[in-house]
Amino acid sequence: MIIDVHAHVFLRPLIRFHPDATPFMSAEQQLAVMDQLGIDKAVILPLLCPEVLPEGQSLDEILQICSLYPERFIPFCNIDPRLTSSLYSSDIEYYLFLLEQFRQFGCRGLGELTAKVYWDDPKLVSLLRACSQIGFPVIFHTSLIGTSDYGPMDDLGFPRLRRVLSRLPDLKLIGHSMAFWSEISGDVTPADKTAYPSGAVRPGGKVVEMLATFPNLYADLSANSGYNALARDPEFAFDFIERFQDKLLMGLDYCSPKNERPLVHWLRNARDEGKISQTAFVKVVGENAMRFLHIDSQSPGGCELSRKSPDPTQSR
Ligand SMILES: [Zn+2]
Repeated sequence: MIIDVHAHVFLRPLIRFHPDATPFMSAEQQLAVMDQLGIDKAVILPLLCPEVLPEGQSLDEILQICSLYPERFIPFCNIDPRLTSSLYSSDIEYYLFLLEQFRQFGCRGLGELTAKVYWDDPKLVSLLRACSQIGFPVIFHTSLIGTSDYGPMDDLGFPRLRRVLSRLPDLKLIGHSMAFWSEISGDVTPADKTAYPSGAVRPGGKVVEMLATFPNLYADLSANSGYNALARDPEFAFDFIERFQDKLLMGLDYCSPKNERPLVHWLRNARDEGKISQTAFVKVVGENAMRFLHIDSQSPGGCELSRKSPDPTQSR
């Protein structure tokens, strides 16, 4: 089973976020890529925050796509941690009420977290605590303070993210983005945090140290950022994959039909040439995601729309 844990799929891709950009991918375009690459299922991460998109995706849009192709797509939910309501005595109470409904509709996690707030922002910590309580893993994009990048903000070396990982030991946090993967190397500079640094990976990388230190930190190999972290220094990467074979997840992060994502080919070649073990390969491309998302190889993707839907007004 091969699972892409990082897909952005739109029911009707209409809007471009830049004159040079295409709209995001439709379900059919995503499926064409999956079929070409031999990918069985993909996790749809709704995009919600104004930092990445002029309009947010609704749960209804994601569930409609999943109900069209229930064997292929797995829904995640998303909440902007700046969301607030005066009807609740605390943010966490509000977030738990929402997340429980998302869970009942078949969502298996939250992401992609892209809101540009500090990692230790109390509202973000409340949202993450609620995800921990409900059992949702969280896929995040992170950014360096002071840059134009998006996602929860941190300093070099992730001091704020470390505090979250320590405070919420049961929350599975899955790292992604340039600011995350550039820290695989010990010689990372602030400029690397918004780039795809090249050359040998130097000892002392914080991503390596944190994956070894925090049992609740995992990593998503999607997009150019994850691929580059491996391809910049293959000899380092082969050891890295073997060492963290239980913590790495294969993702692609197609945002346009024009994107090129060579990760699956790269991993297959590494396996075929004996650079990484078959055991590590199988875990990274699918088994880890199946364990995370409670998928067994016989079951459909996880969308509950075709079954009895809960009445969201009932418990209010
Ligand atoms: Zn993404």
